[in-house]
Amino acid sequence: MSQTAKNTAAFDKVKDECGVFGIYKNDDSLDVVSITHDALYSLQHRGHVSAGITVNDDQKFTTVKELGMVSEVFNEKNLQKLPNGKIAVGHVRYTLNAALDRAANQPLVIRYKEGSIAIASNGSITNFPEIRQELERGGSIFQSNSNAELMAYVIATERIHTENLEDAVLSAMKRLKGAYSTVICAPTRLIGFRDIYGFRPLCIGKINDSYIITSESCVIDTVGGELVRDVKPGEMIVIDDEGFHSYMLDQQAEKTSLCLFEYVYVARPDSVIDGVCVHSARLKAGELLYKEYPIDADMVCGVPDSGIIAAEGYARASGIPYGMGFMKNKFLGRNAGTGMDKKKRLLHTKLTALKSNVAGKRIVVIDDSIVRGQTSQHIVNLLRKAGAKEIHMLISSPPFVFPCYFGIDISDSESLIANRMSIEEIRREIGADTLGYLSVESLHKTVEGVQIDLCDGCFTKQFSAEIPTTFFVDKYANKIKHKK
Ligand code: SF4
Repeated sequence: MSQTAKNTAAFDKVKDECGVFGIYKNDDSLDVVSITHDALYSLQHRGHVSAGITVNDDQKFTTVKELGMVSEVFNEKNLQKLPNGKIAVGHVRYTLNAALDRAANQPLVIRYKEGSIAIASNGSITNFPEIRQELERGGSIFQSNSNAELMAYVIATERIHTENLEDAVLSAMKRLKGAYSTVICAPTRLIGFRDIYGFRPLCIGKINDSYIITSESCVIDTVGGELVRDVKPGEMIVIDDEGFHSYMLDQQAEKTSLCLFEYVYVARPDSVIDGVCVHSARLKAGELLYKEYPIDADMVCGVPDSGIIAAEGYARASGIPYGMGFMKNKFLGRNAGTGMDKKKRLLHTKLTALKSNVAGKRIVVIDDSIVRGQTSQHIVNLLRKAGAKEIHMLISSPPFVFPCYFGIDISDSESLIANRMSIEEIRREIGADTLGYLSVESLHKTVEGVQIDLCDGCFTKQFSAEIPTTFFVDKYANKIKHKK
């Protein structure tokens, strides 16, 4: 591996991008601030760069948001600033921008001709540059590069021509291409909508007589509610004093595209997305990995955290004992050093191998994915140094061969190791005795019974949705440039 590659990618896990939450209170006993605060803790895995809450109390919007984890952003003092209003929305954000743009923190509150709205979104708008240029030509001034700001402006401009906010949102959904699961706190209602492909999850929950819209069902469980159902692709849900109302967009996708990688890595195992439990999908992935790679070994272990459930599945199917191979330091904060040194230190101090458990053994080690290869190389090194006799690395998803344009931070093609090397070359590069990836067919089998069609574009280069062809936003440089 070249030094340049090492320096540019010392910490190469896929990053997830944003979680959203909204509640409309129909029960005076509920405290929307503490519920939203608890909800954001349950969404923390979807983004740890910033967190925020906006509360609408009698049409007065109050927001607390800042860069940092939920535990860093909120404290007793600033939570007290938030009134126990009727509607609240919350957001956690992930970003790659080194500048950590505060203006992109959400929820974003905009005031326009017809009042205020607070918006929080998860996903990626693929016609972002075109729409932004169009709006800028019309005089709009943007504060950030966030999808939420763009969406808010599109909705505000549509509202000029429509009877009500609902029609403006539906019109905006027609203009906005790509992936988005969004919540809006409006003056008198809570609105949630999901793009026509359904890339990112979004579900409806109920707590007493009050309704919730959020990214994952685990959040609804956390706050003591019940899952009502998923928001359908191309559906807008409006919640008011009378309950929830559904509006379907009059344009629908030929084939929907729920992100398969949500089940592999992004979502929390205790979530159910479009009818399939994430934990069950990961267990099944491990079982199917054994079918594809029946290795003779002494112990199966998983790379914490997202490889562990698949490892249990492999152990269950093979009869090989499951054991702990690693200790993860859960207390490593984001302040562990600076720059590239920080990334290296995080990679090297995050995991240690459990010598007493792996020494002298033939180990099957399962991880969810390989992006650039450094993490896998590090994991193999750790096991070797700890005395493992054989190291068989299995991956519970197929090789990444293409970037994602729909809200998951999977690198540009050149950085993806499986785009540059054969599986045998990657095996040699990371130093494992065996390297095997779950096939695309098996990955689809892990979510049998799922209620909508799936996206597997980063594994197959096949997309049902249009990918940007003329322009794209270079997420790393934060500039708009031509796609090569
Ligand atoms: S390209 Fe991959 S990561 Fe992106 S939405 Fe499709 S399956 Fe998910």
